[in-house]
Parts: sequence; structure tokens; C-alpha cells
Amino acid sequence: MPDSFSIPRLLMNRLRTVMAEDVDPETRLRSVVQLIANTMVADVCSIYRRVDDGRLELLATEGLRQDAVHRTYLAEGEGLVGQIAKNAEYLSIQDAPRHPSFSYRPETGEDPYHAFLGVPILRAGQVIGVLTVQNQSDRCYQDDEIDSLQTIAMVLAEILSSADYDQDAIDSARSLRPVNLKGRVLCDGIGMGRIRLHDPVISAAKFFAEDSELEERRLDVAFEELNRSIDRLLSAEIGGLWDEPREVIEAYKLLASDPAWAERLREGIRNGLSAEAAIDRLRREHRARFEKVKDSYLRERLHDLEDLDNRLLRILAGTDDERAASSPDSDVPEVLVARRLGPAELLEYGRLNLAAIVLEEVSTSSHAAIVARGAGIPTVGGIKGLLNHVARGDMVVVDGEDGSVHIRPDEALIEAFGERKKLLSERQAAFLALRSEPSETLDHVPVKLFLNAGLGLDLDHLESTGAEGLGLFRTEFQFLMSDTLPTISEQVALYQTVLDRSDGRQVYFRTLDLGGDKLLPNLNATREENPALGWRSIRFALDRPGLFRRQLRALVRAAQGRALSVMFPMVTHASEFREARRLLEKELSWNLARGYRPPSEVKVGAMLETPAFAYGLDALKGEVDFISVGTNDMLQFFHAADRMTPMISDRYHFVSRPFIRFLKQVRETCENLEIPVSICGEGAGDPIKALCLVAIGYRGLSMPAGGIGPVKRMLRSLNLRDFQSDFDDLLNNSSPSLHNSLLEFARRHRIKLSDD
Ligand code: PEP
Ligand code: MG
Repeated sequence: MPDSFSIPRLLMNRLRTVMAEDVDPETRLRSVVQLIANTMVADVCSIYRRVDDGRLELLATEGLRQDAVHRTYLAEGEGLVGQIAKNAEYLSIQDAPRHPSFSYRPETGEDPYHAFLGVPILRAGQVIGVLTVQNQSDRCYQDDEIDSLQTIAMVLAEILSSADYDQDAIDSARSLRPVNLKGRVLCDGIGMGRIRLHDPVISAAKFFAEDSELEERRLDVAFEELNRSIDRLLSAEIGGLWDEPREVIEAYKLLASDPAWAERLREGIRNGLSAEAAIDRLRREHRARFEKVKDSYLRERLHDLEDLDNRLLRILAGTDDERAASSPDSDVPEVLVARRLGPAELLEYGRLNLAAIVLEEVSTSSHAAIVARGAGIPTVGGIKGLLNHVARGDMVVVDGEDGSVHIRPDEALIEAFGERKKLLSERQAAFLALRSEPSETLDHVPVKLFLNAGLGLDLDHLESTGAEGLGLFRTEFQFLMSDTLPTISEQVALYQTVLDRSDGRQVYFRTLDLGGDKLLPNLNATREENPALGWRSIRFALDRPGLFRRQLRALVRAAQGRALSVMFPMVTHASEFREARRLLEKELSWNLARGYRPPSEVKVGAMLETPAFAYGLDALKGEVDFISVGTNDMLQFFHAADRMTPMISDRYHFVSRPFIRFLKQVRETCENLEIPVSICGEGAGDPIKALCLVAIGYRGLSMPAGGIGPVKRMLRSLNLRDFQSDFDDLLNNSSPSLHNSLLEFARRHRIKLSDD
């Protein structure tokens, strides 16, 4: 074999030439396999491609019989090639025919070949094909040869997926034709725009290095910036407050400065790849492993690795991206498309004014979904394989009413979309008109409607919805938005803005609710089996008194002469509430002693999000000023169904007898204990759920901005006195579905649950 480093380099140069030739795709692939076989001194080189039913089709070969091309198909898992596709891992075998997975295909004429090396062709974490080389001798392939073949496979992934490749025009048509997909609505509304991909994508044009030395220098500079950004995370301010998270960033830093990682990237460059392509190659491997691994700890590690790959790519893209953002097309709105997105990552897009968001993963009550709702961005999630259908810049229509996503829509659809958008604006105008109407039922029972907020931009909704105030201000979003912990003065500034903008309306600040799916970027301390049931919310805050007290101090300081209502999230036991309240009182005295003006009044409440607390409320009689039921978490704990797991998160319903009966009991308990109680989960913004809540006696509901108009309209069409006794019957009987019975009832009594 020739010198290992020079093979891919040479090959890359030749591949670049082949790709630039103006030939049909079939001829191009033929040239590619010949090229690989010649350069690697292999007797055979073959490319298999995964077709729609999962089988692997022999697409091109040098060395096997040409008439087997397009005729030989292997099932997934069949033969060595099938194994590679199934496991997404390379196989290197000295004597292939003796391997237990070997499958003999006489039509290919592969009898004389013994040594076998095959690598998966990966794209977006999926195996889209397999590349193999074979030799007659029973030789061992060296590590650098395996590495070379993997590099080539990456280039092939682009050739196989590029719009110009295929046996005929069918596939090229497929890549351009409209595609309709269906997902789950995470935030309603409709939006149209050009696709912006969250994960950096390397265009085939950027694959090959013109000048390897230059590429290595670019990589070095990117590494320096990466390390600087991690050092910023480790800055003095974080130290002292965050012990374990500090260790986690240290570990992240260690990962980032792992010489083996850097060396593999450099090797990629020396083999003829651009810096971006070298990173992309490793990213494909990390992603493919991520898709297969079940162990949650390993998944997180692989996610960290992929995150580092993406960070490096973003650093390299740097100014290019800025330019893209202000390209001539930049007045066309953008639709963000991502595999998955944490709330913090979504917040980073805040200023981009996205028309819509489409995600492969995520469930309705995840915090990314809540952030999307807060910002009023139509969002659809849960579309498997989404990224295989889209390319940056494609037009897309996102229908956040029924969950459909139309990629590359035709003219008729775009026109229909315009009509729908008009109707929607009319509906919004109707809700706007309701803004100053009283929030009460037909028989004049008042129900206070509050807004759930957490971002500066949510505050605009106070005016537009006519909300009574902020029933839930999620303070952790400020923490999720920044790379370092917000300083006390930054926190004070935000809370003051919230109070200023609320202009005397009631505001309920919920103290830090971190943990679960709300992890600070790179500060997710301990790996947990069940994060939702783990070290989160008030549990975490009480264990971090330094951090928690700073927040309480900021809240007290921001109020100065104004009313302050604070509530603690996910209280499970009375002692947690007492301890948190004690810390707040300490801060009140501390501030007073230093001459700050105290709040005009202070109310301290607790969020009821665990069933245990519902049965322990009596311990806090006379100590807790109010209770706010967080139905998002409560629903998941009540049904033991993780709100973040898409397969089950929508399976157990809010409008179900057990849950509504439970919420009724909670309301009655609070009444007996003389503790004011209200609701602040997202469900309060859905008219049918709100109808149940009002029927069981709740008179304060806090919800996303989009819910206020529809819920007020429902209330104003409801004669509560008449409805109450019927509802009690419905709740007590056991007819099959409470939800369906309610829909039927609402229809008969003209209760407006929807537009119809
Ligand atoms: C809830 O759990 O209902 C709630 C309002 O809190 P969050 O959704 O922020 O966890
Ligand atoms: Mg909660």
C-alpha cells in the first residue's frame, strides 16, 4: 500500500475533479469506485445504497460483476454489508467467507475475495449506504486505511444525497418536490418562511481543502476560541456558587482539549478535507452512535461531543453566518428546523423573529415548547426523519393548527396559506376586541385570567390580551439565556422591568425552577436517571443557598415600595416551603438593615406540583399566603407519565375524571384551609380544560398569551349556574369519555369552545 496519509489526499483531489465533471450521476459513481479501488490498491470497491424499504442495493462496483449492479439487494442485517448498515459501524475482516455473517451472492462473482473492509455512509445520524473494499489476499486493513475509507464515505454521503445524483430523475425530483409531514402542535398559529437549520450544515462545496496548512490554522484558531468560550463559563463569577457544575464544565473542557479529538480532526485535514468537513466527519460518527446508544449517561456524553462539534462549526462559520443573516433574502422570514432544541438554545434565537419552528423531537409540555408559546411562535414537533427532507433555504409552511408541515409548497398551497393567515388575523382581531370586556361568565361570575411569562417579550402580551397580571413569571429563563449566571443587578433590572411594565397589575414571581429539562447550558451537574423526579426546582435551590439568596435579594430589591408576590416551585414537603420562606425573610431584613426601601407588602406562596403536597397542605395553614397549582408537572406526576417523552406525554389526559376529581379535591382542601388557590399550568389556556377548572371552582387561571382570548370567549358564553350541576353529574358518572361528553354538552348549550 502507498503511504497512508497520501492516499486520501490524492483521492480527495481526484474526487474533487470527478465531482466537477459534467457527467451523468451513474458515470460519476462508476468513476468514484474505480478511483477508490485504484488508489487504495483494492481488487474490489462497491457502493450500496439503502432504499426505501431498508434493503441495500448494489449501486456501483469496481471488481464485482457489472450485471449485479441494481440487481443485488441485501436485507437489513443480511451479510456483512447488512451488518454494517444495522450497527452503523465499520467491519474489517481478514477472511470474509468464513465470517458467520457472510452471505454468498453468486451473481456478484465475489468468490475469490477474502479481505473485506466496509464502512457505513452516514447522513444526519442515519445509515444511507455502505462502502466496501475487498482484496483477494487475506490481509488486515490498517487503522489509517479504515480512517481513509470513512472519510471517503462522508463525501459519498453528500454525493448520494445531492439533488443531481440518481439513477434517473426520480430522486432528483424527490428532493425538489413538495413534501407534507405531520407532527404535533406545540404552539398554534401558522407561519411561512425559508428554512434555517439549527445544526450547522457543511455544503459539499466546502468539503475539500484547497490548502491544508491554511485549514489547520483555521482549526487552531477555532480551538482557541472554543477554549476561551469554555473558560468564560468557568469565570470567577460561577466559581464558589457552583461546585458540581463547575466540575462538569471542567469535564467539558477536558473533552474539548482532548488531544485525540484534535488529532483526528487534523488527520482529516491532512487527508484533504476542509476544517469543516473534518469536524463534520466526526460529528456523523458521534451522531450515529448517539442514535444507537440507550444508556442515558453515554447519550449525554455523546450529546456533549456533538455539541462541541457544532460549537466548533459555528465558530468556523462565524462571520459567514452573520453575512447569511443579512443576505438580500433576509427580509424573507425564517423557519427554524432542528432535531431537538433546549429552551436555552431556542432563546438564543429570540432576536431573529422566527416565523415558525419545526422539531424532530420534543413534547408539548417541554420547556422549549413553553418558550415557543411565550414568544408566540407557531411550533410543530415530533416529526421523525424531518431533517432528511429539508435543505437550508427551502420554503416551508408550518400549520400550527393541525400540526402539518408543508416543505416546498406549491403555489396553490401558498395561496391557501395566505387566506388562512387572513382568517387567523381576523380571529385575533376579534380576541383583541374582547380585551377590555370583563372576564366573567354569562351569569356574571368573575374569573381572573393571568398571563404566564418568562421573557421580556412576553410582557407585550399584557396589553394585547388585557390580562389581569402575570400569574407565573418563570425567572429561570433569564438564567437559561446567558452563558454565565446573571449578576444580582441584572436580575434586579429584569424584575424591575417586569414590575414597571405590569404597571400595578399583580405579578407572581416564581423563584428559580432549574433542573428537569431546564438545564443551564453546560452546567447540568449530576446525571440522573429521572431528571423530572430529581434534583430540581426548590430542592436544587435550597441546596444552593448562595445562588438562591442572591435571587431573593434581587426580588426584594426590585420591589422597593411595591407589592411583591413570590412563589416557590415544586414544594413537596412543608419544611421546604418554611426553609425557603426563612431565606426570603432573611433577605427582607438584610435589605432593610442596609437602608433599602422594603416592598409595600409581601405574599409568599407555593406551587402545588406534586400529589404529596396536596395531602400535606394542612401543615401550612396560616403560613402560606396562596397556592398555585402547576398542572404541567402535576399531570405528569399524577399519571406517572413523563411530560418530556413524546410517546406517552399526550396519552393521559387533563380532561379525565381522575385528574379533574383530584383538582377539585385540591380546591376544596384549600378552601377549608382558607388558602387562596389558582391554576398556572399551560392547560388553563385551553377552553375545554378551563371549562372544567371553572366548573370545579377555580376563579384564577394563568396561561400562555394565546389562551386568554379563547378562554375569555368561552367564559362569556357560559351560564355557570346551569352548567355546574350537569358537570357534577358528568364528573360523578362513569360514561366512557369525560372529554367527549363535555364537547357534546358544550355544543348543545352553545358554549364556545372553538371558532365553529
Ligand atoms: C407547571 O408545572 O405547571 C408549571 C407552571 O411550571 P413549569 O411548566 O415551568 O414546570
Ligand atoms: Mg412545573
